[in-house]
Amino acid sequence: MDRNLLLSLVKKYESPLYVYDADKIESQYNRMVTAFSSVKNLKINYAVKALSNVNVLQLFKNLNAGLDTVSVQEVQLGLKAGYNPKDILFTPNGVSLEELEQAMKLGAQINIDNLSILEQFGQKYPKVPVCVRMNPHVMAGGNSKISVGHIDSKFGISIHQLPHIHRVVENTGMLITGVHMHTGSDIYDVDAFLRATEILFDAAATFKNLESIDFGSGFKVPYKEGDIQTDIEELGKKLSKRFNDFCKTFGRDLTLMFEPGKFLVSEAGQFLVNVNVVKQTTSTVFASIDSGLNHFIRPMFYDAYHHIENLSNPKGKKRFYTVVGYICETDTFGVNRQISEISEGDVLTIKNAGAYCFSMASNYNSRYRPAEVLVKGGKGYLIRQRETIEDLLRGQELVKI
Ligand SMILES: *Cc1c(COP(=O)(O)O)cnc(C)c1O
Repeated sequence: MDRNLLLSLVKKYESPLYVYDADKIESQYNRMVTAFSSVKNLKINYAVKALSNVNVLQLFKNLNAGLDTVSVQEVQLGLKAGYNPKDILFTPNGVSLEELEQAMKLGAQINIDNLSILEQFGQKYPKVPVCVRMNPHVMAGGNSKISVGHIDSKFGISIHQLPHIHRVVENTGMLITGVHMHTGSDIYDVDAFLRATEILFDAAATFKNLESIDFGSGFKVPYKEGDIQTDIEELGKKLSKRFNDFCKTFGRDLTLMFEPGKFLVSEAGQFLVNVNVVKQTTSTVFASIDSGLNHFIRPMFYDAYHHIENLSNPKGKKRFYTVVGYICETDTFGVNRQISEISEGDVLTIKNAGAYCFSMASNYNSRYRPAEVLVKGGKGYLIRQRETIEDLLRGQELVKI
């Protein structure tokens, strides 16, 4: 996005501000569709939890995507954005039977990740088609905070329990139409991912009513120059061929599904902040910004690297800074970063702010959550207003005790 446009948006909507580039979202989506173009039935379900603004959901709907949701509230957001409930997959983990029933009643496709609920659901609703989430126990990369397919993970039904799933299916007469895996974030290695898919193919072959295979997500995007990213084109080539061969053997055209969040929206987002204070200490120069872990927690929570640039002084001499937030707790955005010389009042941009940034924002320290702007065709549209004191007080009343 153009620097002058970004600066004009901060001027208009104030700081801090999330800005998303609709064209980048679209091009990432199309990259994926192109990579898998040899598959007859492809469905990409956008993972709502990455960035859940209804305008972003609407953008994906116009691209013909479906949604992957993890709470009944996300299903409701999808319906609000105009989705056909059939295009919404409900893939929660460890939720109650009641919540699954609510999602089912809204018309969403149900994905179940444990044997206990599978058995209860099958007894009550044997005719409702269900997808099962399997855990292939393959470490596809990343650290244990974000990798969810390994042996100790709480996610999914162990692949070793496949006989137990079939016993539940036989006993209840329930209908399994999909198998699913989601190995977690950070697929560095296409071949490791393909090994996990082989395990899922083997499981898939045992379900005679199968209609779809969902390979989840975990596609990695670059956060800085030189970063490894998932080679989606290579994956598309290899997995499409394998999938088409599987369908031939299986005897029916199935739907190939993915549910990316980060891949589709991470790079499209930038977080614009103002520098409140430049503070020299005995050990470093701090740039304190008008935000913190309340708005943007990934650097503190996951040790995620997010690139920072000075939009106000792009050609300035490079100096070393530690960029910190204003929360009364250590909230460091970046240590020893080389950034063009910063003055108080400058606007910084924090990159890769599309996925798991606004959606993880809170009101900690009783601060307002920021506004969000979607840029399309060079024009910015306000898609969420900055909060006000009314938002902080909503639902609270002083009671006489
Ligand atoms: C979070 C999540 C995703 C999206 O993961 P990304 O790493 O953002 O692509 C997909 N599927 C499920 C079930 C999830 O919980």
